[in-house]
Amino acid sequence: MSEPSTLVRAKNLVKEFSPRGGIFARRKGRGVRAVDGVSFEIQRGETLALVGESGCGKSTMGRLLMRLIEPTSGEVDFDGIELLKANDADFRTIRRRIQLIFQDPASAFNPRMTVGAIIAEPMRLAGFSRERCRERVKELLPLVGLADFHADRYPHEFSGGQRQRIGIARSLAVHPEFIICDEPVSALDVSIQAQVINLLTDLQKQFDLTYLFISHDLRVVRHIADRVAVMYLGRIVEIGDKRAIYSRPLHPYTQALIAAVPLPEPGRATSHTRLTGEIPSAQNIPSGCRFHPRCPYAMPICHERDPATVVTGDGRQVACHLVSQSLDIQPQALEPQRM
Ligand code: SF4
Repeated sequence: MSEPSTLVRAKNLVKEFSPRGGIFARRKGRGVRAVDGVSFEIQRGETLALVGESGCGKSTMGRLLMRLIEPTSGEVDFDGIELLKANDADFRTIRRRIQLIFQDPASAFNPRMTVGAIIAEPMRLAGFSRERCRERVKELLPLVGLADFHADRYPHEFSGGQRQRIGIARSLAVHPEFIICDEPVSALDVSIQAQVINLLTDLQKQFDLTYLFISHDLRVVRHIADRVAVMYLGRIVEIGDKRAIYSRPLHPYTQALIAAVPLPEPGRATSHTRLTGEIPSAQNIPSGCRFHPRCPYAMPICHERDPATVVTGDGRQVACHLVSQSLDIQPQALEPQRM
């Protein structure tokens, strides 16, 4: 078995959106820190799930990795190339190797284009010949469970699950290595969700794909992820192996997310941590640990000091004072939250 190698590396990524315009545009306002110093690595061939409530910054994170939006600061490294410093020609080449699957593919489709033209569009933009586009569409349709004749139909003639299959075919068109799946099954019925997850898993094996799977649904993530990163208000609060996280979540936020869904995880330690209240605005991030207003275990230190990231015995990284105290680690001796 070959050694795992890193395909994607995010380092201290920050995305701050400026205050909205409009009639208050001249008034000095605070920006929104949607992503606040996030670091992680994704190994070639693995699926890293990025989970958290809506508004936690996970979709922004996905877009930063593709440079669909520019980060305020930080680095993104793809296969050893620094994406943010790549010139236009290099970036275009890398960009073909990274694709995105949307939650609602129909919103990205031109309703006046046939399915064949929709799937072929990334190839056309990449300069493939008309003949090669036609051949590739013919290869892709059966791979995603669709038939040849579907190429001549229009998106409105398909169900939600079928439209997601078209979106997957389109994302595979230019032979990518890394696919960012942004809530790809959230809009689908449970039975269809399972089919699309199975399809993504099969395609990953067949083409050695690497996935960042963004989702708020921990039931779904359990079926596809190798590792899980839990995001809260622009930060990753826990990241580690899926089995370890599901059977014994350490961060109180992870505990609450997992306690909220019925999961038949063998040997799972049950947690009574429940989420209360709403996720605060990223414009007004709480002091100290940003989770403290909702945390049932909050201590005085949690109000004042941002928890450092600690590494547990099973290789997990967790940012919580409670966890560092139980490991007998002095938080001040560690870097501020960077994973
Ligand atoms: Fe809760 Fe404190 Fe841990 Fe934050 S640092 S999750 S407030 S115990």
